Amino acid sequence: MFKPLLLRPRPTGVTVTTNRWYDDGFHTQMELIMKVADILRIKGSVVRTVPPHETALLLSGHLRAEQIGALVVSTDGNSIDGIVSERDLAYGLATYGGRLPTIPISELMTKAVVVCSPEDSIIDVMRLMTRRRIRHVPVKDGDQLVGIISIGDVLKHRLGELQLEADVLRDYAVAARH
Ligand code: AMP
Repeated sequence: MFKPLLLRPRPTGVTVTTNRWYDDGFHTQMELIMKVADILRIKGSVVRTVPPHETALLLSGHLRAEQIGALVVSTDGNSIDGIVSERDLAYGLATYGGRLPTIPISELMTKAVVVCSPEDSIIDVMRLMTRRRIRHVPVKDGDQLVGIISIGDVLKHRLGELQLEADVLRDYAVAARH
């Protein structure tokens, strides 16, 4: 049977670490599997952390200054004590009212932190975020904190993948007509 071979070009600026051959009995194509490591290569591995004893007021200032929605809570800058997001600040207001600015971050943060690895695929992290209803996932490589992935990062890369898929299908349809 004729099996068209689709070799997808790489999206601009992205180095794909692993490719998987995919065969559905009719098409044989190389599917690009983008990994967390691919995002980190572009966005960098700097992870801003905040110590647990700092106050909600300081946290709010950090989130605003960095223009981010969450921070990893860490005493030493590597081990993860928790994660704290803008939602925790919003809910904290309901719990602590006017006392919120002086409340320590340790009272607001989530202690059971969901993490991923640089080798995880972006699509799996996307599923994880949907299932756990979280928008930020710290990245750990063994014991080392090596990055943080936000839902914005994931969506940006997923849109790139979908655009690429659409381009390939369009090229294929055009080629098939000739
Ligand atoms: P977010 O979607 O990041 O604004 O967070 C929503 C809630 O989930 C907040 O209570 C966070 O503390 C918590 N949260 C965010 N990211 C994680 C994570 N990776 N693991 C566990 N909890 C998280």
